[in-house]
Amino acid sequence: MAAPILSEGFTLGLPVGLAPRIFLDGHIDTAQRMLDDKVDISARLPDGHVDIPRMKEGGLSAAFFSIWVDNTYGPGTAYRRANALIDTVQRLVDTHSDVELAITAAEVRSIVGRGHTAALMGVEGGHAIENSLDKLEALFGRGARYMTLTWNNGNDWAGSSLDPQRSGGLTGFGRDVIQRMNALGMLVDLSHTSDATFQDAMAVTTRPVIASHSSCRALASHPRNLTDAQLEALARNGGVVGVNFFPVFLDEHFCAQYGDGTVRNFVDADIPGIDRLFDHIEHAVQVMGIDHVGLGSDFDGISVLPRPMKDATSLPLIGRGLEARGFSDSDVRKILGENFLRLL
Ligand SMILES: [Zn+2]
Repeated sequence: MAAPILSEGFTLGLPVGLAPRIFLDGHIDTAQRMLDDKVDISARLPDGHVDIPRMKEGGLSAAFFSIWVDNTYGPGTAYRRANALIDTVQRLVDTHSDVELAITAAEVRSIVGRGHTAALMGVEGGHAIENSLDKLEALFGRGARYMTLTWNNGNDWAGSSLDPQRSGGLTGFGRDVIQRMNALGMLVDLSHTSDATFQDAMAVTTRPVIASHSSCRALASHPRNLTDAQLEALARNGGVVGVNFFPVFLDEHFCAQYGDGTVRNFVDADIPGIDRLFDHIEHAVQVMGIDHVGLGSDFDGISVLPRPMKDATSLPLIGRGLEARGFSDSDVRKILGENFLRLL
């Protein structure tokens, strides 16, 4: 007789449900709160989406902390900013024994097995490397395991989905960056890039790529979302998309009302429900197959979450919601973390 299976995948006594589910979020924006606002995420915070106690409560065992370099940083400052953010994450793991830095899937599994939280890092914004492959390599050396080629700003070598001044494809140096990332084993992250850069990058890369926090353009026509053709290309490449939770990207109606979400006087009834997030996940699975879909919440980088999500403590709703839509335990595990883990 099978042991009872609890909602987050633990089984009582028997090896039926295997190990606990690993929930690996592909993208959280908590590091700049730690650096700029000096918040201590080892204690429960009154605001924002993520801290260690709320990660534990929500079953979020691992997350990529975004080393996000704002477009106000440029030559002479962008790389320093990236390093300051890495210092902040490093300080967190140095001073709290229950949070550990991970760079491989095996490390994530052993950290989670100890009941600790795994912190991973990904650079957001290719301008962080200030056009230097040595700086790229140094960021990899400090533990960053992906880099988005752009943020909302394009740069000298790659175009962005939201930068009309720089929306084209990769330059020759941009191709060199991808080749170096492939050689290092640093995941190329195509979230934020222009369609032309996406296409160029797919033609150059020899290894699986990710889109750490992007949703489906077929369901919500936003340039930050990926078309079905892009999702199919990612799947053919062996890559993974982390579906983004931001209502602006999930729902055209909400986006039409609230723009980029920086205006925060949301009427509750206008905010899409979590079912809308499940629609995007399900669509991505239909287009790409179950082995290519993950989650990239964008926690602490977005102003609002699908109802009734509040923060990381709301994450058990996702496993339960996917089960209610007929996903098996194995499918849910893949979406929550195993697909991203495969690429590490
Ligand atoms: Zn982003």
